Amino acid sequence: MAEPLASHWESRADEYDVVVIGSGYGGAITAARIASADIRPKPTVCILERGIEWIPGTFPDESADVLAHFLSPLNPLGLYEFSIHPDISVLQGSGLGGTSLVNANVAIIPEDAFFERTPWPPGIRMSTLRPYYQKAADTLEISEHPQGKNLRKVQALKKRADRNPDAKFELLKLAVNFTHDGLDPNGVERRPCIDCGDCVTGCNVRAKNTLYMNYLPIAKNHGAHIFTQVRVRYIVPAINGGYLIHYERYAPRHPIPESGVMRARRTVIVSAGALGSTEIMLRSREHGLSLPDAVATRFSGNGDFFGIAYNSDQRTDIMGFGNHLDEPDRSAVKAGPTIVGVIRYNRGKPLNRQMTIEDLTIPRAGVEPSRRTLPWLPGTDTDNRPILDWLDNVNEVRRVALDIQFNPEGALNHTMCYLVMADDPANGTMELKHDRLKIKWPNVGNQPIFQQINNELREHAKVLGAKFIQNPIWRFLPNSPLLTAHPLGGCPMGESHTTGFVDEFGKVFKSDGTKHGGLYVADGSVVPTALGVNPFLTISALCERIADHLVEELR
Ligand SMILES: Cc1cc2nc3c(=O)[nH]c(=O)nc-3n(C[C@H](O)[C@H](O)[C@H](O)COP(=O)(O)OP(=O)(O)OC[C@H]3O[C@@H](n4cnc5c(N)ncnc54)[C@H](O)[C@@H]3O)c2cc1C
Ligand code: SF4
Repeated sequence: MAEPLASHWESRADEYDVVVIGSGYGGAITAARIASADIRPKPTVCILERGIEWIPGTFPDESADVLAHFLSPLNPLGLYEFSIHPDISVLQGSGLGGTSLVNANVAIIPEDAFFERTPWPPGIRMSTLRPYYQKAADTLEISEHPQGKNLRKVQALKKRADRNPDAKFELLKLAVNFTHDGLDPNGVERRPCIDCGDCVTGCNVRAKNTLYMNYLPIAKNHGAHIFTQVRVRYIVPAINGGYLIHYERYAPRHPIPESGVMRARRTVIVSAGALGSTEIMLRSREHGLSLPDAVATRFSGNGDFFGIAYNSDQRTDIMGFGNHLDEPDRSAVKAGPTIVGVIRYNRGKPLNRQMTIEDLTIPRAGVEPSRRTLPWLPGTDTDNRPILDWLDNVNEVRRVALDIQFNPEGALNHTMCYLVMADDPANGTMELKHDRLKIKWPNVGNQPIFQQINNELREHAKVLGAKFIQNPIWRFLPNSPLLTAHPLGGCPMGESHTTGFVDEFGKVFKSDGTKHGGLYVADGSVVPTALGVNPFLTISALCERIADHLVEELR
């Protein structure tokens, strides 16, 4: 078995030149680029990550096991974090590799126009980002699914695009390995994708190009020290220069952490994600760090929305089976990676008319719960068939009956789940209450864009002859709360401290408009607007650019 990437906690030094907080896209990219750069003398680099190291093959894939790995105060080392707030809740990952461990691998570039508005600093435009998109795409080794168009769920998705001139279907580029079998140049063992559909609970095949397979090994191979189970609480300037990083270290099955302090002699890069970095910054302000008013502003859910077309006339093969090719019934369903295709609407038109709709496979752990729950959720039949069209009606009932157990001919395997992204105004805010981060965004779900999305999802269901199930929470809660897997903002980029928390290179402003020497933020928190598409490639491009600048500064 490959050696773990994380070092023993006892081997840590009290001081490093560069300390990176978090190991998601921002943390892994900046650590890899600084550690591997030709800088003399070579800076010492360390990554502090709150979660644990997940060796591929050990991710949970049964419902109870997945539930047991949710992060909570009693389980601070959990892999999945569901952060609940009254207006908009957030799903994200925690572990070495950040949310890349449990995301859906989609690598997509937004429309140029998303960057051509305030408060993006003028230095950030598609033209300045393009080389960095390429750099990130090369390292993440993105490619289309070679047989993507043959997947049944992709064909079902495309059906709607074929009938709508404003909608363009494409196969997506994914951070998934479809070809390589064996060791790669970074010494990482890789296996080709088996179309098992478990990307969002964690790939147990070694096919998903998570940060654990590329940037983090690069950082480690170039001497970076990586420590897990370390939750950073706040940062303050050190009297002798640099910064003091106050942290808590959690031992497995031991809820009481050990507190400590590490010094970054030259540079701290805060890369704890949109929620994590904002929380650290708000707490740092309580401990005296000077910060601009833009802290904890411009939160966006990236216009995320979900919908379901249940029990359609078309087989979709959306039931994931995990790394269990030995189970004949299950592997007969070619589920594919979580997301494979996309429909982009109204490209080139005003941003408030654009949207992105993608297919979703249910991971193995979600199949049983979905089979039991979906038949009972209220929805609208989109068929409008006369009652006498008895054959179709009989087939619908038959498929539900077949779902009494796992069955490729059942209703669940004739269902489409959709992820939608669009433009939202990014005007959510965050605060620390009783030392915990809270998101505030009253009535976010009542914006017209979400009704437009619902209408379009209903059309998808109609094309397939399915029951349309809109966001079920909306039925029960009057304020139409949202759920996002793409939190953005909180430490937004801006031209100056009046609009931004960091400059175009991630450098943190002080309250008086000057900048902190050696204090950076690099992750999704710096994105000041929605992107309308899955965000990690853009976060990666921004962080590659920040890393380039940091390397120059450290030289
Ligand atoms: C189910 C799911 C599917 C997704 N699918 C896609 C997709 O297909 N395409 C796409 O573009 N995006 C997708 N995303 C979103 C994407 O993964 C995130 O936008 C991206 O990972 C954000 O990168 P980041 O560096 O900002 O933060 P993260 O990747 O979240 O990394 C932050 C890291 O910081 C650590 N951390 C947090 N607080 C602390 C602390 N106090 N101390 C130390 N460490 C800390 C966290 O544990 C984590 O490792 C998906 C997300 C989810 C949840
Ligand atoms: S479909 Fe399965 S094998 Fe392929 S990347 Fe996703 S989890 Fe890994």
